[in-house]
Amino acid sequence: MPQLTTDLDLACARLRAGQLLALPTETVYGLAADARNLAAVAQVFALKGRPSSNPLIVHLAAAAQAADWATDISPAARRLMARFWPGPLTLVLPARHDVPREITAGQDSVALRVPAHPLARQLLERFGGALVAPSANRYMSISPTSSAHVQQQFADSDLLILEGGECQVGLESTIVGLLPGEPPRLLREGMLAPASIEQVLGEALQRGVEGSVRAPGQHHRHYAPGTPSWRFHQAPPEEALADPQCGWLWCGNARPSAGPALDLGDNPDEYAQGLYAALYRLDNLGLQRLLIQSPPAHAAWAAIHDRLSRASTALD
Ligand code: AMP
Ligand code: MG
Repeated sequence: MPQLTTDLDLACARLRAGQLLALPTETVYGLAADARNLAAVAQVFALKGRPSSNPLIVHLAAAAQAADWATDISPAARRLMARFWPGPLTLVLPARHDVPREITAGQDSVALRVPAHPLARQLLERFGGALVAPSANRYMSISPTSSAHVQQQFADSDLLILEGGECQVGLESTIVGLLPGEPPRLLREGMLAPASIEQVLGEALQRGVEGSVRAPGQHHRHYAPGTPSWRFHQAPPEEALADPQCGWLWCGNARPSAGPALDLGDNPDEYAQGLYAALYRLDNLGLQRLLIQSPPAHAAWAAIHDRLSRASTALD
C-alpha cells in the first residue's frame, strides 16, 4: 500500500535516489521522477503501463530553467511563461539536443510546465532539477485529484505520496505548441482559457494536429471509469431514472433517480475541480452503468467536454 507523507526532505531523498514519488499539483497528482535519470523515467512508464510513444511533461521550479531543456524560446513563449507560470499551462518548445528522447517520445520538441501547487513548488526548489510527472494513474484510467485516488491506483506498490490535499484545478494542463516557423497551436484543452492565451500571444491559436507538433496520448478512450458510461444532452432516459443500478452525474438541476447521483453544479471551475473525484466515487460503487449529463455547449466548458467525450459514449 502506498504511504503518505508531508516530509519534503524524505520526498526529495527518494527522487535523488532514483525512486518515484506521487506529488500534488494544482491540476492533478503526478507520478514524479528525476527527469535526468533515465532509469527513473523508465520506471514511470512501467508503473503507469504507459506506452513509450506517449511523451512526458518536464516540471520546473521556475521559468529560468526552461533554457536547460528548450532552444529557440520565442518572445511569445517568454510572454506566456511570464504571465501564466506557475500555473496550469504546458508549453511545447524545440528540445535541446541533450534532452533524453525517452522523455519526448523521440520528438525534437519538449513539453515544459512550472506547477503552482505550493508543495510541488517547494519540492522542485529543494530538488533543484526537473521532474517528469504524468498523472499518477494507470494508463487510460481516471486522473487522481487526491492522495486517496493515487492509493487506489497503485494499491499494490510501495509508492510514496506527498499529501497535498485536493487539487484546485482538477483537470490536466492546457498544452500549447510554439515551434519556429509554425503558428501557435492548442494541443490540449485545459481550464486555462484559450482566449486568455490568445490575448497574450496577440494572435489566434490554431486547433487540430497539422504541422510538425504532435501531441500523442490524446486517446479517444481515456480518463474512463471501469463502469460503462454514457453522456446525454437532451432529456435523461426515463427507464434509467428508474434503474437502481444506474449512477448519475449531473451538472445542475438533478432529476430524482432510483440509483445514486452526484450533482457537480453549473459552475465550470467547480465542476472541473470535482469531476474526477465524482467519477472515482461513482465507479467504486460497482454499478451497471453511469449516465453523465453533458454541460452547456459554451467555451468555458470546452476542457470538460473534451474529458467527458473520452470518458463516456454519447447517447444522443
Ligand atoms: P500528462 O499525461 O498529463 O502528463 O500529459 C502528457 C501529454 O503532453 C502527452 O500525452 C502529450 O499529449 C503532451 N506532450 C508531452 N510532450 C510533448 C511533446 N514533446 N510534443 C507534443 N506534446 C507533448
Ligand atoms: Mg494522464
